Amino acid sequence: MSKKGKLYVFTGPSGTGKGTILGRVLQQDAKLFLSVSATTRTPREGETHGEHYYFLDKQTFEDKIKNSEFLEYAQYVGNYYGTLEQPVNEQIEQGNDVVLEIEVQGAMQIHEKRPDAVMIFVAPPSMQELERRLVGRGTEQTDKIAARMETAKEELKQADKFDYIIVNDDLDCAIADLLAVFRAERCRVQKN
Ligand code: 5GP
Repeated sequence: MSKKGKLYVFTGPSGTGKGTILGRVLQQDAKLFLSVSATTRTPREGETHGEHYYFLDKQTFEDKIKNSEFLEYAQYVGNYYGTLEQPVNEQIEQGNDVVLEIEVQGAMQIHEKRPDAVMIFVAPPSMQELERRLVGRGTEQTDKIAARMETAKEELKQADKFDYIIVNDDLDCAIADLLAVFRAERCRVQKN
């Protein structure tokens, strides 16, 4: 029987550097595939459909919810975000590891549905540092930053439910930590 791939969930508050850490790890790990999510938020400059996200209108997204096409989905600061189940299952069946970069509500849904998923949480060194990064990134308006900070406070309360916590104080250390998690998981003995 050929070996199936593993599902990894990579989550943490917006602005913690999830995307940066994961982007660098993906460059160094050819066996890891990033799932492309669907969202109803408008594309940022430089984002393309099918690469960064599948940008859908609200009606199309809600039709897919009704058709049970999502492995998980959540509303986050006024928009829907979700992981389409079929492409994830296909990769795993082919023996590839798949990583979902998602927010915390969606991560907890995966934890329930797929208890074998490896759960990784990225935390900021402090709330002050998180706000400084969100403002510095310049992608959100002030009211959206406040909403993201409020959401972050709630998300941090869930951190102890995860298998691994990476504190992104120093970017290179955080990247090394994440590479170490994937490496350790691939050495893990399958118990069943
Ligand atoms: P952004 O608008 O900054 O691209 O994403 C906002 C938040 O939504 C981030 O925390 C991101 O990880 C999360 N997100 C992206 N895709 C998904 C998804 O498919 N499902 C869920 N639950 N969250 C997602």
